[in-house]
Amino acid sequence: MTDVSDLASAVEQALREAGACADLPELDECRVRWLGKKGSLTEQLKSLGSLPPAERAAAGARINAAKVRVQEALEARRAELERLEDERQLAAGCIDVTLPGRGEGRGSLHPVTRARLRIEAIFRSAGFDVASGPEIEDDFHNFEALNIPANHPARAMHDTFYFPDGRLLRTHTSPVQIRSLLARGAPLAVIAPGRVYRNDADMTHSPMFHQIEGLVVGEGISFANLKAILHGFVEAFFERDLAMRLRPSYFPFTEPSAEVDMSCVFCNAKGCRVCKHTTWLEVAGCGMVHPHVLAAAGVDPERFTGYAFGAGIDRLAMLRYGVNDMRLFFENDLRFL
Ligand SMILES: [Zn+2]
Repeated sequence: MTDVSDLASAVEQALREAGACADLPELDECRVRWLGKKGSLTEQLKSLGSLPPAERAAAGARINAAKVRVQEALEARRAELERLEDERQLAAGCIDVTLPGRGEGRGSLHPVTRARLRIEAIFRSAGFDVASGPEIEDDFHNFEALNIPANHPARAMHDTFYFPDGRLLRTHTSPVQIRSLLARGAPLAVIAPGRVYRNDADMTHSPMFHQIEGLVVGEGISFANLKAILHGFVEAFFERDLAMRLRPSYFPFTEPSAEVDMSCVFCNAKGCRVCKHTTWLEVAGCGMVHPHVLAAAGVDPERFTGYAFGAGIDRLAMLRYGVNDMRLFFENDLRFL
């Protein structure tokens, strides 16, 4: 087969076979048949040894050229088969490129998260740090250190979720006051936003809700400082001038204590359903930190004074965005959110 005409007809046959391959596996078989280790053209190269030395070089060059031609033909057929396969898959997929897209809804922050970030930004700009604490608390941080000893009547108001081992889901963010003071000492100014839990649910109460706690402890801190920071906060949060008043109240961990009212943001002091025609909306509780609380947190109450306040983030979000049912925040209806 090493003479010229035999080789030429072998190449022709190889090219015909390559061109006739119907798919890629068949093409591979064809390649092995001609160019593989035991392929016809490879065998011819091996037989060069039996030729007279003078003819070997020329015969070798002819066979190699033949191999290259067959190789090129196989590659060309491979490209052709792959193109046909692509076309077949496209046709089978029936992709209608003129169909309108399904669209991806754009997400947005939850209204409670927006309110929280807004509150944090306002207090940060006033020099407060943002602190956090665990949602599973112990009796000491949630009650004892906050001047609510065992059997104190205030415990009954907290509707606490207890664990079997005596730990509990924190009923307010006030334990973060204790943790911050124990960790950092005085002076300090922190806010602590977070989830709190009470066994209570209706239109304005959810068993899980969000509070923001504020605490400032230092030398010479007064009730006037407290009033100024709260008034500044509500005006910054609602972006308008608002009247504010403090009503005497009672909390075990502050003395004196007060409820914070601001003028109704819905009726401009005309009276409406939301403010129950009083023109005032309750937004926070506050007071001067009780000396027992400072002492429990390792701060000298003879040297330092402080104020604390707490507000519901969900309530602030409801007032700012005009939402009348707190449950809407927690039902996760995307249309609402
Ligand atoms: Zn009103």
